[in-house]
Amino acid sequence: MESILLSQAVDILRQNCLKINETETISVDEAAGRVLAQEIYAPIDQPPFPRSPLDGYALRSADTEGASRETPVSLKVIDEVFAGGFCLSRVTEGCAVRIMTGSPVPEGADCIIMQEDTDYGMETVNIYKSLRHLQNYCFAGEDYKKGTLVMKPGMQLKAAEIGVLAGMGIERITVYRKLRVLVMSTGSELVNPGQPLGPGQIYDSNLHMLLAQLRMWDIEIAAGTLIDDEPEQACAFIRENADRVDIILSTGGVSVGKKDIMHDVFDILEAEKLFWKIRLKPGMPTLCGQYNGKLFIALSGNPYGAVANLHLLVRPVLAAMTGRADLELRTVTAVYENGYPKRSPVIRYVRGVYENGRVKSSGSNDSGVLSSVIGCNCMIAIPAGTEKIDPGETVEVVLL
Ligand code: AMP
Ligand code: MG
Repeated sequence: MESILLSQAVDILRQNCLKINETETISVDEAAGRVLAQEIYAPIDQPPFPRSPLDGYALRSADTEGASRETPVSLKVIDEVFAGGFCLSRVTEGCAVRIMTGSPVPEGADCIIMQEDTDYGMETVNIYKSLRHLQNYCFAGEDYKKGTLVMKPGMQLKAAEIGVLAGMGIERITVYRKLRVLVMSTGSELVNPGQPLGPGQIYDSNLHMLLAQLRMWDIEIAAGTLIDDEPEQACAFIRENADRVDIILSTGGVSVGKKDIMHDVFDILEAEKLFWKIRLKPGMPTLCGQYNGKLFIALSGNPYGAVANLHLLVRPVLAAMTGRADLELRTVTAVYENGYPKRSPVIRYVRGVYENGRVKSSGSNDSGVLSSVIGCNCMIAIPAGTEKIDPGETVEVVLL
């Protein structure tokens, strides 16, 4: 199979992925980050009644004509109203009602004067300013009117959307269900943390790294395990769980070594291959296909290769499957402070730290080294065919 570009790989996967269209109805308080699956029409006016935006007096603008500090107008205070209360008195000529922020405006008043523009009078109040009709007057439905379409399906809910839903009195909403993933790390040299290390063995980083990132993305882990370099063992695990998951992710065993089992796994499962090898460093030998109608993305086992491709390749696919805008990759341009000295025949992603339009790479960029990813917040794209990048050159950066 011929190697392809990263952009082609992402396109192929996005075209072949299944969008989650099953829904569930959940509490608004549990819905942050979820994708709305219904239209939301405002069931009420917001606010439901005309209200005061400040502490002061509700009155008739006509009564304030010519008022100033030198020539105040005196009005009779006939009542008072607090937030959560209601005033039955009607404001007539020469009268005012003491009013607090958030209170309903009494009948007859067409404006509110802030108390700093009065003498704070209790029985009568001196008005120091002339007001316009409807000045400081919040209409019923100022925020939105009953019946307005406020949100559409496909919108990802963030704090403001949750606040608006709660403000409408809505308790439960219908959202798309979470994505369910199968994660499998492969390698007979790998040992689960907590076990003693034998000769030639290392601990499994990738499984735990992938699980951690997927959980941080609020994706459901339907199954996750470490498998030896035994194709039948891997196939059994996949067969057992394939119906419960939307996508299959694995690491390791995709290269050309004798124990690179994922090729056999694809053959045994009769999984359809979409592509093998991306012209990209790290993660060149990535193998992708479909099994049981689900995408199967087999990442390279090198830990930096796995993490880089989880972002560059998997993340945009998860975004397409869920409709979640927060999963789309974000790229910025930045000045590369220290530059990159090596040739890059294919596009290369170098771990880095981005801040205020500037980016720096530090530590080893070797695919097998994971600890230098600690503290990194981006990957710097070194374009294919570059001899080197000089310090101060501008580069594209993928934010993690
Ligand atoms: P592979 O892709 O299986 O050829 O593995 C490439 C390199 O990454 C080898 O040195 C493996 O030992 C290492 N490796 C593979 N999987 C993991 C893992 N889950 N955790 C840590 N290192 C791994
Ligand atoms: Mg291996």
